[in-house]
Amino acid sequence: MTSKNLAVRCQNIMKTYDTGDQKVIALNGVNLDIATGELMMLVGPSGCGKTTLISVIAGILDQDSGLCELFGHDLLTMRSKDKLRFRAQNIGFVFQAFNLLPALNAAENVSVPLIINGVKRIEAERKAVQVLAQVGLGERVKSMPSQLSGGQQQRVAIARALVHSPRLIVCDEPTSALDHESGQNVMNLLKDVALSQDRALVIVTHDARIFSFADRIAEMDDGHIVKIVDNTAQLKNNSPKTL
Ligand code: ADP
Ligand code: MG
Repeated sequence: MTSKNLAVRCQNIMKTYDTGDQKVIALNGVNLDIATGELMMLVGPSGCGKTTLISVIAGILDQDSGLCELFGHDLLTMRSKDKLRFRAQNIGFVFQAFNLLPALNAAENVSVPLIINGVKRIEAERKAVQVLAQVGLGERVKSMPSQLSGGQQQRVAIARALVHSPRLIVCDEPTSALDHESGQNVMNLLKDVALSQDRALVIVTHDARIFSFADRIAEMDDGHIVKIVDNTAQLKNNSPKTL
């Protein structure tokens, strides 16, 4: 694989949290390449570093050392203004806790990434309503987050991550609050939208119901990637998955 085809390149990423009285090593030498066109899932026990790793990949958190490149760009070396713009244009992030803005309704929440990228409000809301319909919330575009169930809020968060057609979508447990059918719908949508053209998708999950959507599944433990299962190779061999 040449670096031209890489959406994400992580080399020896280290990250320690220092809370004053103790240091926690969250990432301890992560190496991971994600190709364009690839859906990579990240699995592993609670506390093994999954959220920390995707936060570094998405430029939300700076690693202590090691190289992380997104589409050939090293976010650590960018000026903060350039990094903000790069992230706004290229990355969609679905947070584990959804992180919707409580004072904005569903359509306004989903419009935010477009407005940040300079799209006019009316146009942004029109597009937001379209994507909300795609996640099954066409009837709830005016609802405030507090009026929506957990599963509905999660789908608003997914619509917000998709709406500006970012090159990389990163999701932390995107189906945790969804029933089986909504989960499958959301995965089909993420796969369609995210993997058209030269895009990539990284999904942290415990949800075995969606493992079959992955191209590869990286298993983490204790701040490392311990194993990578290639679903596409297994499909070619027609043998069952081991995860
Ligand atoms: P996962 O998403 O796999 O559950 P995390 O990346 O959230 O794991 O956490 C990895 C380790 O880092 C855990 O031991 C966690 O307690 C610790 N950690 C995560 N965030 C912080 C933080 N902001 N401050 C201190 N420790 C943290
Ligand atoms: Mg986590």
